[in-house]
Amino acid sequence: MDAEFAALEWGEYTNLISSTCLVLQFARWGFVDLASGFDGDRGFRPSGAMARSVVLKQTPRCARCQLAPRWCICAGLREIECPLRIDVLMHYLEAFRPSSTGDLLRRVVPLSGQHLYRKERPLSPESIVQPGKELWILHPLGEPLPANQSVENLQVLLLDGNWQQAGEMSRAVASWGRRVSLPMTGESRYWLRTQAGAGQFSTMEALLFLLSALGLSTTHDQLQAQFELHVYAGLRSRGHKQKATEYLEGSPVRDSLWALLGEIAAKGQ
Ligand SMILES: [Zn+2]
Repeated sequence: MDAEFAALEWGEYTNLISSTCLVLQFARWGFVDLASGFDGDRGFRPSGAMARSVVLKQTPRCARCQLAPRWCICAGLREIECPLRIDVLMHYLEAFRPSSTGDLLRRVVPLSGQHLYRKERPLSPESIVQPGKELWILHPLGEPLPANQSVENLQVLLLDGNWQQAGEMSRAVASWGRRVSLPMTGESRYWLRTQAGAGQFSTMEALLFLLSALGLSTTHDQLQAQFELHVYAGLRSRGHKQKATEYLEGSPVRDSLWALLGEIAAKGQ
C-alpha cells in the first residue's frame, strides 16, 4: 500500500478518496420526518436532483460532500472568507475518511491550505509557512494562547489525524512555529466519531475555539453552522435518525441549521 500511494500528490489523493468512498457499505438509510416542508421520505432532496454524482458498484455519492445523493448538503454550502490564514496538515490515512473535518474545511474555506502528511515524504516549511506570518501549530500540549495577537500577521496550522498521528506530525513541524493550546471546554459536537475522552475535540472544533478566542465571531458562527450541518447529515446518512434528531435539537446554532436544511430542500424541489 505504501508503494502504491507513495507517488500520489494531493489532487490524486482527492480523486482516490472519492473512489474509495464509493465502495464503502453503509446500513440502509432509515428515515423519519423531522419537519414538514424540507424532509419527507426522500432525504434532503429528490433522487436525481444533485448536479453531479459519481457511481460505482451502485453506491452513488456526491463528488463534493461525499454523501449519498439524497443526503447531499452542497446546496447549503456557504463559502467563508476568513481573515485568519488557515492551513491543515492531514495525515494521509485521515484523507481516506469521508467524515474528515479537514476535508470539510477545504470546501467551506476555499482559501485555506491543504497539505498531506506522509513520514516518508517530509514537507518543507517553505511549502506551508506564509512569508511574514507567525505560525501557530494547534496542539493540546502547546503553550497557552498568547494575548493581543494581530490576526493579519498570524497563520494557524491544524493537525488532522488521531492522537498518535497528530503527535507524529507535531514533532515533524515543531521547528516551524509556536505550538499553542486552546482552553477548550465542554463536550464535543463531532458525533460522527467517538472521541478519545472528555475534553477531546475534532480539528474543526479546535479551529472554532481559536476563532472565538481571536474575536472572529462572525467567521466562527458561519463555520459552526457548516460544521453542524456536516455532522447532522452524516448521522442521517448512516441511518442514525434518532441521534440526528437529538443533535439537531441540541445544536448551539439550531436556527441556522434549520435555515440551511430548509434551503437545501427548497433547491431540491
Ligand atoms: Zn454534495
